[in-house]
Amino acid sequence: MGVLRFVLIGLMFLIVFQWFKVKWRRFIRMLAGNPALNVPQPLVACVQCGTRVPAQTIVADHDRAYCSQACHDAASRSRNHE
Ligand SMILES: [Zn+2]
Repeated sequence: MGVLRFVLIGLMFLIVFQWFKVKWRRFIRMLAGNPALNVPQPLVACVQCGTRVPAQTIVADHDRAYCSQACHDAASRSRNHE
């Protein structure tokens, strides 16, 4: 009986701690006042390898997005083989 109570109290502390951690991070961001920190960068998946990269760093080719020039080249090479 006593053990179960300890486990429940431990879980409650864990949940409160996690909640507080999130609140604290938001508070720090608010203090920093940097809007770039508040807006997460949208991630785009590379059509070649599937790596998710920030939208600003993609290599775009028509409506396809690649994580790097290497992936772009590999894709265009395999397309030329078809
Ligand atoms: Zn890639």
